[in-house]
Amino acid sequence: MNLDNFSCQNPSCPDHNKTGAANINLYTRYGRKQVRLLICKTCGRTFSELKGTPFWDSRLDWDTIEKIYRSLLKGSGIRATAREFNLSKNTVKRYLRLANKDYQTVLNFLQERGVVSNGDSQLRELLNQFSSRRQASDRAGMAAV
Ligand SMILES: [Zn+2]
Repeated sequence: MNLDNFSCQNPSCPDHNKTGAANINLYTRYGRKQVRLLICKTCGRTFSELKGTPFWDSRLDWDTIEKIYRSLLKGSGIRATAREFNLSKNTVKRYLRLANKDYQTVLNFLQERGVVSNGDSQLRELLNQFSSRRQASDRAGMAAV
């Protein structure tokens, strides 16, 4: 498990916001989503891996979130993905937007679950594809995606 992307969230800790300082360990997991509670070895504070990320403000379970991205990455459109998992198109679009907004968190999530390989080219390509598609339809004056 790679914790290099996490940093201590305690503002008075000497290692606050430092990534790759090897001070972060897994403390425990909690809740329905088995969210990781991390501990900073420097100051002893614990904090949730979700802290500071808008990505996880979601009622979907993580397996479903993973499936949404898997589906999009294998080339299914928003409509097809929504239909396959019985979601609204807006929900699928929301996860695309989140991948744009909180790119690193989404990338970490997908890498940890083995959805994408180590590089980030697959996710970048996906986002490029949808942003250029949206621009194209904006130019054509189409309201719906
Ligand atoms: Zn700390």
